[in-house]
Amino acid sequence: MTAVEPHIGPFGGMPFNAWNALPQTLPRFPVRVALPDLRRWQPGNTGIPGVWRFAAGAPGPHLVITCLIHGNEIAGALALDTLLRAGPNPARGTLTLVFANLEAAARFDPENPTASRFADEDMNRLWDASLLAGHRTSHELTRARALQPVIDAADVLLDLHSMLWPSDPLILCGPSEKGRALARAVGVPPLVVADHGHLGGRRLIDYAPFVDPADPRTAILVEAGPHWEPDTVRSMSATIEAALGATGLGPLPTSKASTRVAEVTLAITANSGAFAFTSAYRGGEVIKHRNTLIAIDGGIEIRTPYDDCVLIMPSPRPGRGHTAVRLAKYV
Ligand SMILES: [Zn+2]
Repeated sequence: MTAVEPHIGPFGGMPFNAWNALPQTLPRFPVRVALPDLRRWQPGNTGIPGVWRFAAGAPGPHLVITCLIHGNEIAGALALDTLLRAGPNPARGTLTLVFANLEAAARFDPENPTASRFADEDMNRLWDASLLAGHRTSHELTRARALQPVIDAADVLLDLHSMLWPSDPLILCGPSEKGRALARAVGVPPLVVADHGHLGGRRLIDYAPFVDPADPRTAILVEAGPHWEPDTVRSMSATIEAALGATGLGPLPTSKASTRVAEVTLAITANSGAFAFTSAYRGGEVIKHRNTLIAIDGGIEIRTPYDDCVLIMPSPRPGRGHTAVRLAKYV
């Protein structure tokens, strides 16, 4: 155990260390967007509930856009609801829109908005061929198995997500070169984070065809901003438009910012129930000097391993065993 002074700073109106002493109690997050009535999208038009497909006359790639892999991330559902109401009309190829976990979303309660992330288990840890082919069942596994043919048929997949803690939007492109190239081609938002996923299971973007260098199929995930903010829905719609442009299904955007790629070198997992950052980081900060103290985890100091270390998606109150922050380098 390293002797460290308590880290004091205002955060959420409480001293930071006291605030962190309650890892299981989340602050109240305001819900500033309303979940649309998704029952109208339940039937789908493909024989698979919640899956809508629109094919152009002209040949082209198959773009699949998924929302609600996490049932409480309703900004993605709002963005697809808007797109569906407008009547998707791809210039070429095929566009498929997927409401992944409508059952969890149907339980969304603005009074307790974090509770409907899933019914039985995290649907973004199940994308492993042997797990999908296995015998274990859960609501999410059953749904993932039903969606598997849709996912397999994608040339390009965009998975819409949002974040609990305030942070700037970013694209996760996974570990592959092709993921990075796709993220750069989409380019909205301009921050691209290359990472290696979670020890807890494969995300949809880590599904084998999407990471196999010999397979042309590619996937990216957008973390469009805080879950329940109107700006997040706007940011998501901008990413969708950029993805339609990048695949030729829609018009090319007139202008976009140049992208920046950060490569995650290390995911810091909270090993104690009392993980605490030394400042109220919101992600995207570049810590100039190597060996800077950024957090204390049950008495253990967490320091930056190199100069110009980028903090990605810090979770101010991670539970034991959960990712607290990813450390990255701009490339
Ligand atoms: Zn998510």
